[in-house]
Formats: sequence, C-alpha cells, structure tokens
Amino acid sequence: MAKLSDPVTMLKGVGPTKAKQFAQLNIFTLGDLICHFPRGYEDRTKLVTISQLEQDKSACFRAMVMNSPRTSHIRKGLDLTKVQVADHTGRLTLTFFNQKFTTGQLEYGKEYIFYGGISGDYLGYQMTSPAFESPDAPPVVTRRVLPRYPLTAGLSNASVFKAVQQALAICDPPEEIIPEQVRRQYGILPAERAYYAIHTPTSMEEAEMAKKRLIFEEFFVFSAGLSLLRASRAGKQTPPYRNTDLQSFYDRLPFALTGAQRRAIDEIRQDVRSGAPMNRLVQGDVGSGKTMVAAAAACLAIQNGEQAALMAPTEILAEQHQKSLEKLLQPLGIRVALLTGSMPEKQKRLTRQALADGEIHLAVGTHALLTDTTEFHNLGMVIADEQHRFGVGQRSKLSAKGRDAHVLVMSATPIPRTLALIMYGDLDVSILDEMPPGRQKVDTFLVGESYRARINAFIRKQVAEGHQCFVVCPAVEENEELGIRAAETWAETLGQTVFPDLRVMLLHGQMKGAQKEAVMTAFAAGEGDILVATTVIEVGVDVPNATLMVIEDADRFGLSQLHQLRGRVGRGSAKSYCILTSHNRNAETLQRLKALCKTNDGFQIAEEDLKLRGPGDFFGSRQSGLPAFRVADLSCDLKTLKDAQAASAQWIDTEGTADTPEAIALRSRIGELFRRAEGTIN
Ligand code: ADP
Ligand code: MG
Repeated sequence: MAKLSDPVTMLKGVGPTKAKQFAQLNIFTLGDLICHFPRGYEDRTKLVTISQLEQDKSACFRAMVMNSPRTSHIRKGLDLTKVQVADHTGRLTLTFFNQKFTTGQLEYGKEYIFYGGISGDYLGYQMTSPAFESPDAPPVVTRRVLPRYPLTAGLSNASVFKAVQQALAICDPPEEIIPEQVRRQYGILPAERAYYAIHTPTSMEEAEMAKKRLIFEEFFVFSAGLSLLRASRAGKQTPPYRNTDLQSFYDRLPFALTGAQRRAIDEIRQDVRSGAPMNRLVQGDVGSGKTMVAAAAACLAIQNGEQAALMAPTEILAEQHQKSLEKLLQPLGIRVALLTGSMPEKQKRLTRQALADGEIHLAVGTHALLTDTTEFHNLGMVIADEQHRFGVGQRSKLSAKGRDAHVLVMSATPIPRTLALIMYGDLDVSILDEMPPGRQKVDTFLVGESYRARINAFIRKQVAEGHQCFVVCPAVEENEELGIRAAETWAETLGQTVFPDLRVMLLHGQMKGAQKEAVMTAFAAGEGDILVATTVIEVGVDVPNATLMVIEDADRFGLSQLHQLRGRVGRGSAKSYCILTSHNRNAETLQRLKALCKTNDGFQIAEEDLKLRGPGDFFGSRQSGLPAFRVADLSCDLKTLKDAQAASAQWIDTEGTADTPEAIALRSRIGELFRRAEGTIN
C-alpha cells in the first residue's frame, strides 16, 4: 500500500512532465490527488432509445452498427469518418473527426453503448464524436456518472481521472475524523465511502452525498480547530491588569462615547482584568467608532506597563490611525509610532529598535508588524483593524508575537451571525450597534447611463454648495477589462472635458505610498472638488465635507463593499448621497444593488448579500481570511455549515483532547488546514 504523502510520480504514466502539470494544480502527493475534487459531473446514467434522443442533450443509447465505418480525407490534417447505427426505433449517422483509430474498433453488425448529443439540420439528425464501448465491458465512458475535474494546460480530464483512480487503488483515502455518532445524527457518509464516491459515484445522488460529507468534514475540521484554539487559550494565564481606570483617556475625548462604545470598552476591561488572554472581536458598521475602542484597549495595556500594536489592512489607513491616535494619546504621555513596509529601511530599523527597547508604547502599522524582524519589548495588546482581511493564520501569529498577548480584532464588515460564528468561533464578540449622534442616512440611488447628464449636474451642485465628491471606479487603467470604467481615464475625462473648471484629483492603489498620502491629505484639506479613486478609499479615509459618492459600474462590487464605500460620505452634518451606476440589466444584479438603496443598515445588507450570493462571494475570494477550503467553495448551504459547527463544538468539548484515532487524525488535519490558511493575507 502506498501512503497519502507519496509523490504523484510513483503512479504509472506520471513522469516529470505530468508531475509539473499536476504541480500547477497544487497536486504533489497522492493525498493531494485524492483531494482534488471534481468541479462537477456528467450524468451518463440515463439510457434512451434513438427516437428519445433530444437535440443538444447528451444521453446513452444502445445501437447496432449498420455498415463499416467509412473514412474520407477532407484536407490535410482532417479525416472524417461516418458510420450508420440503428435500434428498433430509428437510425442515426455518427460523424467522427480524426478518430480513424477509434472508429476502427466499431464492428459492422455489433451492438455498442454510445453516449452523445444529437444536432439536427435539414439533412436529418446526426451525432458528432460520441463516446462508445461494448455493452459487455465494464462501464467506463457510458452508463455512469463521470467526474469533471479542474484542469490545467496539458492535463486532460481523462488523465486526471486515471491518476485519481490509480491513487485510490493503491492507497487508503484520508482517515475518518468524524465520529460515528455524529455521522449518524447528521446523515453523513463514512470517509472511505465519500472519498471513493466523490470520484466515482454510481449516481448523481451519491455524488451529492459524498460532496455533502466532504463539505461537512471541512467545516468540522475548521470549527473544531477554532474550538481547540479557544480551549488552548483558556488554560493560559497572563497577569491581570491592575489599573483599568480610563478616566484620563475619556477626559481627552472631544465627544461623549456612545453606549455601545462604552459597553465594548467595559467588556475589554473585564477581559484584561481576568488573568486570561483576551480574544475579542469588535464588530461595528462603518463609522460606529471602532478606533476609539481600539485606543482604549491600547491605553489599558500601556498604563499597565505593556506595549500595544495596531495593525491596519492598508498603509493609508495605518497612517491615518497613527496620526489621529498620536494626537489623542500623546498628551497622556503615550509614544505612538508608525511602521509600514514602504517606509525607508533606515527609518524602519530605527522604529524597530525603539520598539525592541520599549521606547515606543504603541506601534501602528500594516502586516509589516508581523514580520519576524519586528521585536517588541513587552507586547501585551495586539489589535487588528478591519479584521475580515486577517485570517486565522495571522491571528495566531499575532498573539504569538507577544507571549499570550491580548488580542482585539475589529471588523467593519457586518457579518451575518451564522458566518461570524464560523469565522470567529474562537473569539468573544462585542457589537457596536449604535452610531455616534448626528449621523444621517445616506440617500442612495441606482441609475443607468441615461442619467449621466443629471449625475454631472448633481456633482456640480454639490461642489457649488462648497462640498466635495468621491467618484469610485472598479479599475485603475483602461485596459484592465473591457467596458469597465477606469479611474485614470475617467479622472482625465472629468477634469478636462466635463468639469474643466473644477479641481479633479486621482487616487489609486498603484500609486506610491507617499503620493497616495499627499493626495488624500490634500483632498481632506479641501484642495480638491472631486476625487476619482479606486477602492483604496474603502477603508478609513475621513473627509466630513464630502457629501456625494458616485460609484461607477457598481455591479462590479460586492454589496458589503459598496456599503463600506458609501460609509465614506455622510460623516459631516450635511445631507449626503450615493449614486450607483450600472450598465448591467441582469434582474438579479439590479435587485442586489437595490437592497443598498433601501437600507443603511450594514447587517441587513450583509444578510442580503449572503442570501443572494452565498458566503464565498460574500467575502470575496482572497479577502475572506478563511482557509482555502477544498470542496466547500462556500457555495454550499448554510445548513451543513451550521450542523458541522454544532457537531464539532459538542464533540471537542467531550472528546477533543482524547487519544482515539479519530481525535488524533482530526488534530493533525486542523494543523494542516491552519497552515494553509497562513497564505491568505491581503
Ligand atoms: P469606524 O472605524 O468604526 O468606521 P471611526 O472610529 O473611524 O469609525 O469613527 C468615525 C468617526 O466618528 C470619526 O471621525 C470619529 O472621530 C467619530 N466618532 C467616534 N466615536 C464618536 C462618538 N462617540 N461621538 C461622536 N463622534 C465619534
Ligand atoms: Mg475604522
């Protein structure tokens, strides 16, 4: 018997060339191959008569060959073979291109099972290149469900199929990790059966069952992993903070905290007093005031003699945080420093040195803070802003930086409860469900291109009233994708042709850090009327004077992302608007966008997004911070997900640390999954 960790090259027919092609699909071992699941199936189980064959629908039928196949040479490189077949209901001409060898196997007067689809023209029905085999041979290409695999250049479906079948024949599939009682309760196939059936199902139903089991398995592993993380932390101890009085911090604030902010901060105070490391998620819609909660947490650590680190997903946001926090905290004697990847090496080195010496109390940065060269004197509090972009991998890395540091993560993406439970099963959650006073609803409209003149007039009106506008485009450059509005060219058009008298600025992610910074600062200072930008402005940037956001080709963005973008306006006292434009006429797309016009409640929008697009799209492929699930491309139903969550939580509680073969296998699988999750960084 071979092992799952053996290389694919041990298979017959897999040499260095094939191995390279498999590597393209991230397949290196037999185990990888067995976990290379089909993306779909071709159901060839249905057997019909010739008369029942339907146009453009492939099916199997049994028929007799009525003449010897005749091949004609059409031109260089093109041979055409025709053969007549018949059953008791009718006749059919089969046409094959360049398959002289194959068709040579069709014998006059014999019966075969064919699989193909017919196409008809005025000359009658015909079928092109059907698959066929003898009714007496075991079914290979007909009368069964054939998997369709994700492929890469040079690898055919047939060769992947063959390799997978070989692998399954010479080694056992991954071990069972789901206890029998759980399988029984949720109607889940055993591992062995599922791994065979996903590749060689006898029916579509069985394929579905296998898929369900494998999805369940992935979520089971993931949530069990989170439960274990939680359990492992539960045993940990950290000196309780003695000084949790934040009065001097509160006194510095230019406003009174909202009730929700107070509650979140109080929960954090309790956590840090408890003697166990905090692991808390603060969830709050854009503008709900998460930064103040982060600042309070940082203060708690610092006034108890420890350092704090705040990580933001982008440099712009990190810079903004650093500035506003410095202004707020410096008078309290707190030293705040910025550390980002694009800073000059020398400055980075000096900052790192100051961090290691403990001269800096609060470091604000991007994931540069995570690199191994950054050392802290005594890091006690790690805060991650806009958490949805930091995966589990980063999360555990962060807390490892400070020995059992407190971890606070903040998410501005309102996440439906179901998903929050899954993604953050290892965290306690505080919710900021209250906006600071004075926030207004942003009136949102969805319009087509015919409204262009009116949009332009509206922009002009806002500017005439002394306000500023954002115009967001889905692309930076024209050539990225056809027909998609690009920030660069659109800024040029607006600046030169449409609004030559107004000050139009441009901001996008491909600009250098310092350049972006300069543009943002200038725009925030009122030196521009219109800022044409990509989604780089999605997070953080605060321009209270901006009252209008136009989002071009809005159908290109996810709902939650649009909601984030929209959160950039309506931050001042003036009435604010958001205009979504779209060429898309697809009813579903329009319905999705209209959800945004109806409500300003991020959670409601998130639920809607989830309902319409499923969790996979909801998070966007790369930003989810979820590990790379193999089967569960997250388009599965939420029911399975919830079941797996419930089952794993219960099981981990009772048997998670046991030494049963299942528990041991499960723990090793969790390790694997979390290692794969490391890869997902913004
Ligand atoms: P979030 O990060 O949750 O999107 P921010 O922390 O950036 O929100 O806060 C948004 C704006 O609201 C900032 O300008 C901040 O100064 C302000 N703010 C925060 N809390 C309050 C409050 N309690 N009262 C008034 N304004 C507040
Ligand atoms: Mg924020």
